[in-house]
Amino acid sequence: MRFPSLLLKANMSGKISNPDSINGQTGKGNAGLTCYLGHIVSPISESEYADIRDGALIVDQAGVIVAACPKSDIEKNISEYKRVIDYGKRLILPGFVDTHSHLPQIPFTGRSGKTLLGWLDTYAFPAEASFSNTTHAEKVARWYFDELARNGTTCAVVFTTIHKDACDIAFQTALAKGSRVIMGKVMMDANSPQSLLEDTSKSLAESEELCQLWHGADNGRLLYAFTPRFAITSSEKLLAGCGQVWERNHGTYLHTHLAETQDEVAFVAKQFPKSRSYLDVYKEHGLIGTNSVLAHAIYLDDQDLSVLQATNSALSHCPSSNFFLKSGTFLFRKVQKAQIKFGLGCDVAGGPEVSMFDVMKNAAFMQKDEWISPTELFYYATLGGARAINLDNRIGNLKPGREADFIVVDPSCRTGVPKDILEHKTDEILSSMIYLGDDRFVVASYVRGRQIHTTEKQVLAGVTT
Ligand SMILES: [Zn+2]
Repeated sequence: MRFPSLLLKANMSGKISNPDSINGQTGKGNAGLTCYLGHIVSPISESEYADIRDGALIVDQAGVIVAACPKSDIEKNISEYKRVIDYGKRLILPGFVDTHSHLPQIPFTGRSGKTLLGWLDTYAFPAEASFSNTTHAEKVARWYFDELARNGTTCAVVFTTIHKDACDIAFQTALAKGSRVIMGKVMMDANSPQSLLEDTSKSLAESEELCQLWHGADNGRLLYAFTPRFAITSSEKLLAGCGQVWERNHGTYLHTHLAETQDEVAFVAKQFPKSRSYLDVYKEHGLIGTNSVLAHAIYLDDQDLSVLQATNSALSHCPSSNFFLKSGTFLFRKVQKAQIKFGLGCDVAGGPEVSMFDVMKNAAFMQKDEWISPTELFYYATLGGARAINLDNRIGNLKPGREADFIVVDPSCRTGVPKDILEHKTDEILSSMIYLGDDRFVVASYVRGRQIHTTEKQVLAGVTT
């Protein structure tokens, strides 16, 4: 059947989106398709989104979106669908993309009182050392992926620990739980506590073994990132080896931290005196470029910004963490103007919450003199993040042909939000969602059409009409 062109509503900037941007057709009949009814909002750019009230999201058996269109377009044939799940007026959105997070740190969220380097010594390093115990690693991995799904995060770029077995367990858990991840074993061979200090060659070899085992698993749902923690905990040999191993495993990722605090930058300047800047340490060792994701990136100069743009490297902006550890303020507008790709990250437990609602809100709060609109925040938590990690041809919006990673959100689920919020203008609904949102808002989360979380038992069972 054919889905007619849909009308997309004018957004805050007054532009009308391309009417073909979210429409599609199946031509295959409807028997194997699932239809999700609700208010579809799908980002197009920083200033535009597709908006379909009383919409229908049609997903095939492989978990690929066939169409997002008005319900009225498919109503006549609705009985032909395998399943119809009616979410009423609730929002159907692309799942959140978290571009920087630490799985092993979920057990100690909410601990601050020290800036980065002291915080690592006090909280992060002891917690990560305990991942030599695989029973503990398994328990925390399950907790972490449940937490992501509960909060509407369907894709995350994830640090594990130095432990090969624990990283393997994390991948097995993601495989079973259904989350989409870019993940890797952490690499540390310098300036680290004894319990986390690795032999350089072993660290590189184990990382490559894990990469070969997991990169591209489940048809590309699980992807591997080589993960040197940051420059401070890396020898030159490790950084150089990492550059080589990343290059020869084509299509994999490089995930690390960059210039999060001034103390850290000063430490790196002493450790690598020949490098012009912190970014240059990574550049000189072949660690930037397409599929390189650099978290924080607060203390950059104009030359760094040019290099990041020219090399197609991506940044992960982690405002909740930057607030929590008093690290500094991301150059949001400057980075944007320099046309550097970036997404948002929770950086748990540097950030106190997994919630991307919290991250969006803090991205706005953090900027002292800039207004960032709800449309823009929504974009960076979804499609902007997907673009940063070069997965926007698969996820990040609800266009036909994308994999069906989506969430169902109901902002009326908590006090302080008008009970009729879902009747309001879409800009107002998004604003309430961002500034008042938490896990109570997330009714269901889906990855590639598979439900990985729901608060509604009857939806898990499916409602067939
Ligand atoms: Zn981090």
